[in-house]
Amino acid sequence: METIIVWLICTSIFCFIMYNMISAAIDKSEMASNIQDIRDLLIEMKRDKVNAERERISIEKHEHEINEECPACGYLVRQNEKFCPECGLKLID
Ligand SMILES: [Zn+2]
Repeated sequence: METIIVWLICTSIFCFIMYNMISAAIDKSEMASNIQDIRDLLIEMKRDKVNAERERISIEKHEHEINEECPACGYLVRQNEKFCPECGLKLID
């Protein structure tokens, strides 16, 4: 009779330990996937930031290119343009 009680106690303890181990493993994998999500999000944010910076630089460059007005019609012309695309005035000698 006593051995059955001891066996029952041992089995319940074993089950308890197993349950804790399994739930801990599940928690860990969930945490790992969360960390992976956060990492992906950070990489995406960084990429967005880099793209925004690149876009800003290209816009600035673009704005820098168009900073000349045609003396005849006032049309905004790029610096390296030889003729005004609006009126055809020769801009560079
Ligand atoms: Zn012009």
